[in-house]
Amino acid sequence: MNKKKLGILGGGQLGMFICKSAKKFGIQTSIFSTTTDFSAKEFCDQFYIGEFTDEKKIGEFLNASDFFTIETENIPGFLLDQINREKKLFPSANIIKIAQNRMREKTFLNSISGVETAKFSSVNSFSELKKKIKDFHFNAIIKSCEFGYDGKNQFKVNKDNILEFKNRNLTNYIIEEFLDYKKEISVIVAKNNNQMIFYPPVENIHKDSILKQTTYPASLNINLYNNSLKIAGKIAEKIGLQGVLAVEMFVLKNNKILVNELAPRPHNSGHWTIDSCKYSQYDNLILSIFENGPKDPDPQKNCKMVNIIGHEYEKIESLKKSYKCYDYLKKEIKPKRKMGHYIIFND
Ligand code: ADP
Ligand code: MG
Repeated sequence: MNKKKLGILGGGQLGMFICKSAKKFGIQTSIFSTTTDFSAKEFCDQFYIGEFTDEKKIGEFLNASDFFTIETENIPGFLLDQINREKKLFPSANIIKIAQNRMREKTFLNSISGVETAKFSSVNSFSELKKKIKDFHFNAIIKSCEFGYDGKNQFKVNKDNILEFKNRNLTNYIIEEFLDYKKEISVIVAKNNNQMIFYPPVENIHKDSILKQTTYPASLNINLYNNSLKIAGKIAEKIGLQGVLAVEMFVLKNNKILVNELAPRPHNSGHWTIDSCKYSQYDNLILSIFENGPKDPDPQKNCKMVNIIGHEYEKIESLKKSYKCYDYLKKEIKPKRKMGHYIIFND
């Protein structure tokens, strides 16, 4: 068994940061990417380009390593099952499949005692939406159950705009109550059979449903702080996490915490850990897979992480002069595309 090599499904910026951490611990990386230009290209030791359905290419990629992880959850279920069967996958296929589908995810979350989400239901057609929105007091958000990220295929629905959805294909959607929350936070957990560690909750600001800014530490009272960690821990235990899991949460005005969604991998809201912590979320993914377990992150400095989105990338050279800046080396600027990020230290 090759205990010095990690196969990563996906080659975006999360993959890039996983490769950089792996190198620090003497682990080689092999990437499978569906695009030819990808952020991790310069940082991995080996790469394969193809579709996830290309059996030959996938076969070559699988033969090259024994340990695997993902940097995107949008991997076909049959492939996750295959890797789970034949190799070692962190986290397991089961967890990734839960996070791939919003109905499955929310049903699972509510099955854990002490964990709750917004009220939700499934929707498969416009007539069903029209009927169900009454239960949500005409103030809802609908999201495609699968393949949505950064707010893609998500719409706020109310009395005034509902007719706009008449001709839209609403197969496999979820409807959720639209929450008037106080803030959004996230907690990242790393775990293996020996150890479980938490990154402290951070506060997230989204713009157009895309993460714009993460602040460490989140401003929370001690009860909310403890409760957010407790919820994340319960979820990690319940799914038998081996690897890294991010838990996105809403803090309501009455101080109740509702879980929004799970990411069974390092998360955008954990980029700050690279610059502020002794062990970043990427380091702890590697330590969970190849060493005795994750280590106490030990955050050193308060900071903000700001995403560089779409055309904001044109300002990257001037941002570099003032801040610790990360360029994801994407060839093309697209609106809403995450192009890089920078860190502002607040002391
Ligand atoms: P994605 O997979 O695109 O990140 P999310 O479910 O996290 O999907 O939604 C993106 C953002 O949209 C959230 O971070 C939040 O700002 C907003 N949002 C999502 N669900 C709700 C909700 N039920 N009520 C209010 N805002 C929401
Ligand atoms: Mg989200």
